[in-house]
Amino acid sequence: MTGPAMPTVAVAGAGAAGTLTAIHLVAAAERAGTPLRILIADPDPHTGRGVAYGTTDRRHLLNVPAGKLSAWPADPGHFAAWLAAEGVPGAGPGLFAPRAEYGRYLAHTLAAASARARGLVRIDRAHAPITRAEPTGSGVRVTAGPARVDVDALVLALGSTAPCTGWAPDALARSSRFVADPWARGALAGIGGTSVLLVGTGLTMVDVALSLAGPGRRLRAISRHGLLPAVHADRPLPQLAPPVLPERLGMGELRTAIRRHVRASLAAHGDWRPAIDSLRPVTAEVWSRLPLADRAEFLRTGSRRWEVLRHRMAPAVGARLSALLQSGSLHVGAGEVESATESADGIEVVLRDGQRIHAEVVVNCTGPRCDYGSAADPLLRGLLDSGHARPGPLGLGLATDTDGRLTSTGGQQHALWTLGTGRRGELWECTAIPEIRAHAVALAEAIAARLSHRTPMPAAAR
Ligand SMILES: Cc1cc2nc3c(=O)[nH]c(=O)nc-3n(C[C@H](O)[C@H](O)[C@H](O)COP(=O)(O)OP(=O)(O)OC[C@H]3O[C@@H](n4cnc5c(N)ncnc54)[C@H](O)[C@@H]3O)c2cc1C
Repeated sequence: MTGPAMPTVAVAGAGAAGTLTAIHLVAAAERAGTPLRILIADPDPHTGRGVAYGTTDRRHLLNVPAGKLSAWPADPGHFAAWLAAEGVPGAGPGLFAPRAEYGRYLAHTLAAASARARGLVRIDRAHAPITRAEPTGSGVRVTAGPARVDVDALVLALGSTAPCTGWAPDALARSSRFVADPWARGALAGIGGTSVLLVGTGLTMVDVALSLAGPGRRLRAISRHGLLPAVHADRPLPQLAPPVLPERLGMGELRTAIRRHVRASLAAHGDWRPAIDSLRPVTAEVWSRLPLADRAEFLRTGSRRWEVLRHRMAPAVGARLSALLQSGSLHVGAGEVESATESADGIEVVLRDGQRIHAEVVVNCTGPRCDYGSAADPLLRGLLDSGHARPGPLGLGLATDTDGRLTSTGGQQHALWTLGTGRRGELWECTAIPEIRAHAVALAEAIAARLSHRTPMPAAAR
């Protein structure tokens, strides 16, 4: 076992959230002039990519323009300038770049930050999951692959859990024609056949449809509501102030205020999008003010509509999808899977309304999940089972304080933090890069402040 001779922070997860955390930990150590070791653990061989930016399909575009995705809040042009330096066509703050570029950018930005801080900050990368974390007085003992390491703080940047398959009838779930997780490495690569059923009609379905569409292939997408994500405007829109909300807030009041705000935006600008975007800076506060029962009602009755309006497609993706719809290559509608039967040449899926769909392949496009309580990940399971962590409100993510520090079942706080999906229950909107970046900055500051009080380890103990 190795002890932390120098202040050490472990980060579980090398996706966008873990990488942005590491970038801002480096910056905080540099500012304070204090040495720091960062141990980033993730079985994924790449750093910065995770699920969203691990795609190699260049038709998969970012759904946020480059000008809003800089790793450095004080330098908003950083990502756009990097794209230009890399020779990416159309580089500029308005570009919806291929998602793969963002993964490369984050890896490059972390490498550049750690090169600048050489001699002060050391970054180690373990290509293994962290499977166990045990709080030890002031720190945490983590198990990453075969190594056990004592660290001063652990950040959980674990992303979402695997898509839900509970909706799939047994015959479908067991079938080799069923793709349970379209983001698993290579999951879409070997798909043949002329008829493919996509279950889900959100951004995951859009990705999958762009990848699978081709001559002679018919794609059919269904979901309970049949709603497609909205599309970003292809021109800059005005920025609105958020609506004034009543002191006593419930779902009814919130719906009324938002509808009024949307109508005002339509009247003034001919577009509803500025009204929805104006809610971004206040969403977490609004969410926390809503009574728990109203938040639960929102999850049941309003969240799908919100997702559709809030997380929109890049204009080029919207245009490509329209072309697929118009040509008949893609058909989107409402429908819920009731039963399925496998035959020699495919799967017969019966919908609740009696419709029958024959497909050679069925792809689960129901999207990411945030209910950590049911996660299989041994690290999460261990923390939840031991009570060192507890599920967040409504079972989403984990219970945290305002900096993202975990609170245990007994209300204690150990040196454990989370961001991204881990804060879904507390904040609701926390999984897009602008929010993740803000939380990574705050969390790095909080950890740096804690480390500045750390008792230096006696030389003999190193
Ligand atoms: C398909 C898709 C497209 C998206 N597009 C956009 C977009 O265009 N713009 C935007 O702002 N947001 C987008 N998002 C939102 C997305 O959630 C964030 O942008 C971001 O990628 C989330 O990163 P993350 O690090 O939290 O999660 P992930 O990318 O899921 O990374 C989590 C990492 O943790 C690792 N891990 C899990 N358990 C452990 C463990 N026990 N130990 C060590 N490592 C572990 C995993 O291997 C994984 O690499 C998209 C999301 C998806 C799914």
